[in-house]
Amino acid sequence: MTYEQTIKKYAPLLKDVTHIPQKEVEILLLFVLDKNPIWLHLNYKKECECEDILAKLVKKRATDFPLEYITKRASFYGESFEVRENVLIPRPETEILVEKAEAILKDISNSKVVEIGVGTGIISVMLAKLIPDIKIIAVDINDHALALASLNAKKFGVEDKITFIKSDLFTNVPNIKIDMCISNPPYIENSFKLPKNVTFEPSNALFGGVKGDELLKNIIKETSKREIRFLCCEMGFDQKNSLSGYLKNFNPKKVEFYKDYENLDRGFVAWF
Ligand code: GLN
Repeated sequence: MTYEQTIKKYAPLLKDVTHIPQKEVEILLLFVLDKNPIWLHLNYKKECECEDILAKLVKKRATDFPLEYITKRASFYGESFEVRENVLIPRPETEILVEKAEAILKDISNSKVVEIGVGTGIISVMLAKLIPDIKIIAVDINDHALALASLNAKKFGVEDKITFIKSDLFTNVPNIKIDMCISNPPYIENSFKLPKNVTFEPSNALFGGVKGDELLKNIIKETSKREIRFLCCEMGFDQKNSLSGYLKNFNPKKVEFYKDYENLDRGFVAWF
């Protein structure tokens, strides 16, 4: 069977887990072959000799197991990041958070930033790539996340700009002058029934407490206590009211909420 016929054969198996089944079979095939899409385009009519391996991966994907955990890659901000099980898969809307932070940091020289919950490292690594003289302290409670983020920092050559520390929120963050805190913390309410694909991701990267915004509130409080001037956070679509109310306790100079690509409330920037 040719590559083209193989792709057509396996695509229907993924129709219940994705709206782009053919594309996903192609991605899996390219992963198996370690080739790029142009190569596949030029070789569609050649004989496929890896059907057995492909069939296994398609079967796994058909259980709603995330594609990114199979290919160990996810694209973010136009770059390809390493991804592993036990660490949250990057989401496109987090690009907006990076843009908001960049807009502030580009005007601060020698800026110091702390990221709470570094995960794969997408936020810290992108900021380190975008801002020339930045220094970042990136923390996570999860050892797998710290190892992966440090791998991504090396992949993009920014490991000298980021210090990784194991820490539950701010617990082990040194008490030094910091300009900005940034975080995409777990913010889903504990009782929320996750869609099947998301259940494969680590729950300590997803659930934020009984209401969901508890960790965000802790981050707001600690940012204010440490006299950090800027706070950029992602949040749940229904948390704007509770968080804008909570932020008022700390007399911010200004707070701006922003929406995601689906026009849902998704985060805020606070100036203290
Ligand atoms: N900072 C990482 C991200 O945005 C991890 C976030 C998390 O694990 N909650 O993807």
